[in-house]
Amino acid sequence: MTAISSNTVRKYKRLYTSQKRNKRPHLIAKYGMQCFWCECQLTNETLTIDHYIPLSKGGNHQIKNLRLACFECNQKRGNSLP
Ligand SMILES: [Zn+2]
Repeated sequence: MTAISSNTVRKYKRLYTSQKRNKRPHLIAKYGMQCFWCECQLTNETLTIDHYIPLSKGGNHQIKNLRLACFECNQKRGNSLP
C-alpha cells in the first residue's frame, strides 16, 4: 500500500511540474517577454511566473491567474494583492 501511494504522489508531482513548465510559452505568447508589473525586458534568467492573486489569497494555477514577472517584482510583491 505504501509503495502504491508514494508512486501516486510521484506521478502527481511530475504532472504538476510539467504543467507549470508548459504554461511558460503560453504566457510569453500572451504577454511577451516583459514583466507584467514594471514592464522591464525579461530574459530566461530573470523570468518568473507570478500569481496575480496569490495562492494564499485564494488564487489558483490557471493561466488567467498567472503573469510573467521579473525576479525583483515577484520578490517585492510577496503575498500582496494587486
Ligand atoms: Zn518587474
